[in-house]
Amino acid sequence: MFILYFEILAISFLFGAGIGSFINAVAYRVNLKKDYIKSRSACPKCGHILGFWDLIPIFSFLFLRGRCRYCKERISPQYIIIELISAVVFCAYFYFVGISQIFNFSTVNFIHLLYSITFIGIFLYIALYDYLYYEISDKLVIVSSLITLLYFVILLILHVIPFGLILSNLFVGILAFLFFFGVILITRGKGMGGGDMKLAFLIGFIFGYPASIFALFIAFLIGSVVGLLLVSLKIKSMKSMIPFGPFLSCGVVLYIIFYQYLQHLVYTIFFI
Ligand SMILES: [Zn+2]
Repeated sequence: MFILYFEILAISFLFGAGIGSFINAVAYRVNLKKDYIKSRSACPKCGHILGFWDLIPIFSFLFLRGRCRYCKERISPQYIIIELISAVVFCAYFYFVGISQIFNFSTVNFIHLLYSITFIGIFLYIALYDYLYYEISDKLVIVSSLITLLYFVILLILHVIPFGLILSNLFVGILAFLFFFGVILITRGKGMGGGDMKLAFLIGFIFGYPASIFALFIAFLIGSVVGLLLVSLKIKSMKSMIPFGPFLSCGVVLYIIFYQYLQHLVYTIFFI
């Protein structure tokens, strides 16, 4: 049992690193408007097509000491940082949630696992892309909403959730959207953009009440602490833009991993 436990965590770490590597590649190619499925990875400096040994997440970077094998140009540490974050996030997810779902195997648990893994990946991608390019893709938010709707419909057919839940989550999504719309109107778009508003809808739709409020609360909390820290350390000024997408994603991922612990807390706060 213990050996299996360790193996699952090791595999989830490597799996997470692989997802991180994929996210890096997709973000880079989407920004350059390249085909992100067909085009092959190449060094941005010398254009040399990268081989299998250059593309192993985390290890290639360490082995090559952060330089291109062909032209010796420095590779941005962004790549290994994202791979490590993704590896740790997936490892934590399997440690706190995934393993118990694997050991208590059922159709519902399997669908839930698949859905959670997909959405951790999507939110990590949204965070990275917004951090790098200050943009949240409308298409991705729409596709994510449709996947979530499909997930709810499957759970409805399996009699896991009532129909009312889908409607109430939709309502919470619209409220979250309007709340962000209000914040943008009041702050005149200094803090947040339209992308955050659509992302707030997605979060509200996925988590419903009261969970989404908690995910959004974590996002605002981390966002303000990091924002104040960056301003006080003079890394950013009060006027400079700090994208909010990474904080929203952070709130979501933390909630997905720790929901068992947070749910209890949420209910004590909201239903006392
Ligand atoms: Zn190169």
